[in-house]
Amino acid sequence: MKVSKGIQILVPRFKDECLLSKGIEVRDLLKVRKETVLYVQPCASERGKLMADIELVKEPDAQFIDPPTLCSLLEIHRRRFAELRCSPNLGVAKLKWKGREISIFKNGKLKIQRALNRDEILRIANSVSRLIWGAAVCEVCGQPTLSCASGKCGKCTSGEKVAVQIDGLPNAELLQQGYANLEKAQESPEEFEKSLRATRYLALFFTMEAPNKDDAALGLILLGEAEQVGAQKL
Ligand SMILES: [Zn+2]
Ligand SMILES: [Zn+2]
Repeated sequence: MKVSKGIQILVPRFKDECLLSKGIEVRDLLKVRKETVLYVQPCASERGKLMADIELVKEPDAQFIDPPTLCSLLEIHRRRFAELRCSPNLGVAKLKWKGREISIFKNGKLKIQRALNRDEILRIANSVSRLIWGAAVCEVCGQPTLSCASGKCGKCTSGEKVAVQIDGLPNAELLQQGYANLEKAQESPEEFEKSLRATRYLALFFTMEAPNKDDAALGLILLGEAEQVGAQKL
């Protein structure tokens, strides 16, 4: 893919109360309620390793995560996980990632097992929270944040658009290639599935890797566009 200079995209401005603006960053949660977010203890199954329970919400809330969206988000990155099981009915997902075991529950709890230390726990928790952000239910519209990002919910944008210069962002190439693939999906029917799959993968990757949540939201917006393009085809 050619890297052109000055790539600018127009994205909607989202309401401040929308979960796409607020995010579910573990590091933000730790600032507000340090003692209740994270319980770290020795791993029962492996000496010297740690396990941790993390709460993304103050009160466990069975409606915090939309299970079908959770499973479809994890499916996008399946090839990065050694194992993945996700049950839309139970609202539980378990995956193995870089030797760590991670469980995700629809009430907003995460469990990380076999971690080396506290820093690693926080790093993994931050990545996982980005990975599942799109499945967390937004309070403004009651839909998964991915529906806010795609504009499907119809309630979370302010109506304005903002221009974002993407080539200056960290990992900009993930986003650029994502947009290039989305274009390709729309232009050539025989490449449709493959290009759309690549768009989804790159978009979610960008969201997980972005240093700050405002940039990370751009990945979910692209993923939302891909979902819309995919839905039109059906
Ligand atoms: Zn929203
Ligand atoms: Zn919404």
